[in-house]
Parts: sequence; structure tokens; C-alpha cells
Amino acid sequence: MIEFTEARDLVLSAAKALPAELVSLPLALGRTLARDVMAREDIPPFTKATMDGFAVRAADLAAALPVELAVVEDLPAGRLARRGLRPGQAARIMTGAPLPEGADAVVMVEDTAPSAGGVVVRSAVRSGDNIGRAGEDLKKGEIALRRGAFIGPAEIGMLAAVNAPRVPVVRRPRVAVIATGDEIVEPGAQKSRGQIRNSNGWALTAQALRAGAEARYLGIARDRGAALAAKLRRARAADILVLSGGVSVGDHDLVKEELRASGVRPVFWRVRIKPGKPVFFGRRGRQLVFGLPGNPTSAMVTFRLFVEPALARMLGRDEPGAGSVRAVIAAAIDVKPGRTQFLRGLVVESGPVLKVAPYDDQRSGVLRSMVRSQVLIVVPADAGRLEAGREVGILFLDGRP
Ligand code: AMP
Ligand code: MG
Repeated sequence: MIEFTEARDLVLSAAKALPAELVSLPLALGRTLARDVMAREDIPPFTKATMDGFAVRAADLAAALPVELAVVEDLPAGRLARRGLRPGQAARIMTGAPLPEGADAVVMVEDTAPSAGGVVVRSAVRSGDNIGRAGEDLKKGEIALRRGAFIGPAEIGMLAAVNAPRVPVVRRPRVAVIATGDEIVEPGAQKSRGQIRNSNGWALTAQALRAGAEARYLGIARDRGAALAAKLRRARAADILVLSGGVSVGDHDLVKEELRASGVRPVFWRVRIKPGKPVFFGRRGRQLVFGLPGNPTSAMVTFRLFVEPALARMLGRDEPGAGSVRAVIAAAIDVKPGRTQFLRGLVVESGPVLKVAPYDDQRSGVLRSMVRSQVLIVVPADAGRLEAGREVGILFLDGRP
């Protein structure tokens, strides 16, 4: 039996970054950037008006107002000025149009009135007013987005702005999921007495999907060697294989032996944690193999503790250590020392200090606790009792790292 941090390090050091592939812009949403993306020109590429009005030389408006200026040009967005502004001149300009040479500010249309000679300006502007400078968003050669960045809508916009219609993203990790057990029955199928619904197969597949994987659910393997061996063959191409159930010490807990027989080299079995003590981790070539305990909460928590960090590593994302997000506990917690505990918890106050409290039923068969909880509260193995107000590490359960 090993400690949690050691187990986690063993998993992380086995997880290698996956190669890149190109996808078109909209499909990059939710993916991870595989390379730094640079601005190849200034953004915006030219100094432009940010208001509708008149491009002027601010120095012309330094004396007593109002001042009449000659309007020499009309500049809608997208049109380049044909000439520069000389003293005493203005150009009618719309938001987004490039500023003419010589101009250094825009007077809002609301501060002007048309006149026979051109335009009368009623209020002064300073140099730089109502214009957007070339490169104010990004300078040519600057890194726009870093590799490892999670691509959300703002990143999609930025990729478009820097002219990257095909985006280098990390290939999605392929995850295969197998549920084991003689007693479990798929939702929708006939169930007899003594049987229960298979929830793990689906919950774990969903966790993999949410973490950015291409997940394949391979169904239920009964607690017989041949059944599992057949499913294991179908999982060969996966980067990660996740199984639920059958890793304890019961008579029908065959998963470890079957994995070994199919070429999986064990790395660890049993970790000093609660829930999830019987968790197994091994490798088959480049494939990472996780045998998670069958109790629904244990399965999901161990997926969060071990499989999600491995997926993040494969995707080249930063994975902060377990418990590096800090919170304080709203009331005292008493736990039996000996194992690092991951209590399913609620966020009771979200600011300015994050306050959390354990859900009141921590039994590992109670899937309800996962539905209700937003975080895992990390209680160190030697803690015993934690007083209210004590700072603890937490892990989010909502897909956040
Ligand atoms: P095991 O780890 O196989 O000993 O299973 C531990 C407990 O989890 C038992 O009560 C099982 O019935 C239950 N269990 C195992 N697999 C699943 C599953 N796929 N869905 C829901 N419960 C399960
Ligand atoms: Mg079982």
C-alpha cells in the first residue's frame, strides 16, 4: 500500500503528452492548444477611429472653441485615406476606419455641427482621444496564446484575429471504459432480484468525455476471465483503459489477474486513501490502465484523483496538484486518521473566502453524495480532527482543474 502523493506521481510520470492535429476553427472549441500561437502582424493592424465623428489634429483645437475645420475626406470603415490632414483640416470618419496621416484624435459627431465651410467643433480633444492604436491588442511577434491553453470562445476569437483558420490542437486521448460485475445490469434492460443498475460505466464515460477525451464505453464484462479478456482485446488502441469493480480481495475480483494475463504490468495496487483504497494502476505498452473500485463514489473519486490528472498531462494542460486550491471548512471535521480522505463537500460560501463543508453522508456506495457535492475536501492522513475555520486543500468536481 502506498501514499496518495506517491501514487499520483507514478501516474503522472507515466502520462505523456499526445501529438498535435489540425482542426478548423470552430471545432477547436474545448480542445487544448498544441503550440504557441503568435501574432504575425499588429492587432489592430492600423490606428483607427473608435467613435463616429471627425479625425482631427488635436493641436488645431487647443485655442478658443468653437473652431471651424475644412472637411477634406469621407472615411467609412474599410477605406484608406487618400491624403494626410494638414492644419485646419478634418476628415469625416466612422468607427473602425484607419486614421489619416497627420490626425491624432477623433471628435465625436455629437460634439460637432455641420457648417458651410466644413464642420464646427464645439469641444476639445486631446491627442489619442477616441482612437485605437495599431498593436494595442497585440504587437507583431507577440505570443497570442500559449500551448496548453484551453480553447474557449475568447480563444476562438483570438485565433481568428491572428488569422489561424486551422488550429494545432492536441489529439484527444482515447479512453476505453469497461464495467465489471455479475450483478450489474444496463439501464433499460430487464433486472432480476439481486441485481443493480450499472451506473459506473456511464458515470466514468461521462467523466472522460468532460475531461476532453474521446471515450468509448465497451459495456459490462462478467466476473469470468474469458469475458474480461475479450473486452480487453477490444481496448488495445486506447491511450487509457478504465475498469470499474473487481479490484478488491473478493472471490470474484478477477480484474488484476486478468489484466496481468493480458499483458498489463502492475505499477501499484492499493493506495492509502478513502474512498478508493483498492485502486489499481498498471501499464500495457503505452497504455495506462486504471482498475477503479466498484462502489460508485469510489469509482468517480478515484477517476478524479488519478485519471483526470493523467488526461490533463496527455493534453499538455497544467494540472495543479491535488489540494492546491485552498478553502476553509465551515464546521469542525472528525475523521479517523490513517488514510488521506477525500470528503465529498459543498461550497457553502463562495467569497471572499471559499468555505466548504462535507456532505453529511460519506459512505462510498452513496452516489447521491456525488450529485450534491461540488468539491472534494482533502483531509491529510494524520489530521484526526480539523477545527472550523481551518484551511484545507480542495479539488473541484465540476471539470475545473
Ligand atoms: P466491487 O468493487 O466489484 O467489489 O464492487 C463494489 C460495490 O460496487 C458492489 O456493491 C457492487 O455491486 C458495486 N458496483 C460494482 N460495479 C458497479 C457499477 N458498474 N455500477 C454500480 N455499482 C457497481
Ligand atoms: Mg464486483
